[in-house]
Amino acid sequence: MDYLPLFFNINKERCLLVGGGEIAARKAELLINAGAEISVIAPEICQRLQDLVGHPPHICHVREFQPSDLEHIHLVVCATDNQSLNKEVSNLARQQKLPVNVVDDVDLSSVIFPSIVDRSPVLIAASSGGASPVLSRKIREMIETIIPSGFGRLASFLGEKRQALKQRYPDVDNRRRVTEAFLSSPGEELAMQGNYVDASPYLLPKSVEQDQQLTGEVYLVGAGPGDPDLLTLKALHLMQKADDILYDNLVSRDILSRVRRDARLINVGKGEGSELTHQESINELLIRLAKEGRRVLRLKGGDPFIFGRGGEEVENLITEGISFQVVPGITAANGCAAYAGIPLTHRDYSQSVRFVTGHPRDGEVDLEWSEFVHANQTIVFYMGLAGLDRICSQLISHGREEKTPVAIISKGTTSEQKVLIGNLGTICNIVESESIERPTLIIVGEVVALHDSLTPAGTTRS
Ligand code: SAH
Repeated sequence: MDYLPLFFNINKERCLLVGGGEIAARKAELLINAGAEISVIAPEICQRLQDLVGHPPHICHVREFQPSDLEHIHLVVCATDNQSLNKEVSNLARQQKLPVNVVDDVDLSSVIFPSIVDRSPVLIAASSGGASPVLSRKIREMIETIIPSGFGRLASFLGEKRQALKQRYPDVDNRRRVTEAFLSSPGEELAMQGNYVDASPYLLPKSVEQDQQLTGEVYLVGAGPGDPDLLTLKALHLMQKADDILYDNLVSRDILSRVRRDARLINVGKGEGSELTHQESINELLIRLAKEGRRVLRLKGGDPFIFGRGGEEVENLITEGISFQVVPGITAANGCAAYAGIPLTHRDYSQSVRFVTGHPRDGEVDLEWSEFVHANQTIVFYMGLAGLDRICSQLISHGREEKTPVAIISKGTTSEQKVLIGNLGTICNIVESESIERPTLIIVGEVVALHDSLTPAGTTRS
């Protein structure tokens, strides 16, 4: 180990910052976040740094460095491009046994700044020992994605309860076991959301009865349109935590492979149009499992609140008093449009976009067709393939130009994505002559014509 990692308490301690440019400003920001009082020394001080330290308790000296500047200082940071000045400051500081950092110069530094992930009070620091700051930033990025943003709130909660926990469980081993059990209970997620009141009984139940009554939690999570890289960090985090996963047919195998290894997977998929599994049974199952104290994740294709019946599921959970979270996902319209090079709005061609269900009710696609006929708007039909004929003929007969471009996107955002392009007059024949697999999305509007020029490299063109 080339360095000893330490966390340095510099709250209300005076730090010397030599240098007045942008880099010095960045260091000043960090020092201020840690509560330091800064003295800046530089013949010229940039505006950003002035804004940061131009007021008490900070002090700015617009002049050259002098050795007496090191008096009563706890940490020295040198951020100048003057090599001999850096050396002078470093030597003087080291003679006085003061910790000193010279930016980008490990040889002149006794302490170095790590890359940090800040989930205060949790702090994670990474360093490559000065070998490659870019690499340590990369490490930081990787850590950022796996530590949920609510971790700080969780740590504060545990900090608040520490005394009470010590009193109830004087034995260290017992305390550790109780805390571990809390961290795999629904209470952990509640604490991360800052809901300390509801989280508390999972750590310190008021009575044995309350301990037995504690229910689980339901996470209603959007899985996005197919590409697993389009999952949100929050979705991934909850997928790693849930005990039971109730998923739809729309959720790809790639996505399912990212759930916790020992989670129970339950397919509650409804076919497009047909009700293989009734919504009522899904609602009942969610409630029953949550009442057994399990963490249940309802994983839905796209976004749970866009043609996902998420609203109904939430209503039931509220009625039953079960705590839940809704995590949005990238809806099919967004995902398919982006991967097919079709901007849903465009200054020149489309000022609005509508998401419409094309799901036939009693064999008829029954919609307010006159609302969809103005040019300059994009209409996205979900569940529309079976009613494509009728969608096209209704739009034409209500006055939308026959030449209006139409895209059919099959298995959008996946490696099997296929895009067919035509217009209201031709698209039905095109679809008939091609084998096209569900799920499919229909986009109608002038923006579809941009597909040829805007299709991203590496994705399939029609
Ligand atoms: N909640 C989902 C929509 C569910 S309705 C969402 O927000 O995306 C099901 C319809 O979504 C399908 O019939 C199809 O029209 C569309 N769909 C979902 N994923 C798709 C994909 N990868 N490619 C094309 N269409 C998709």
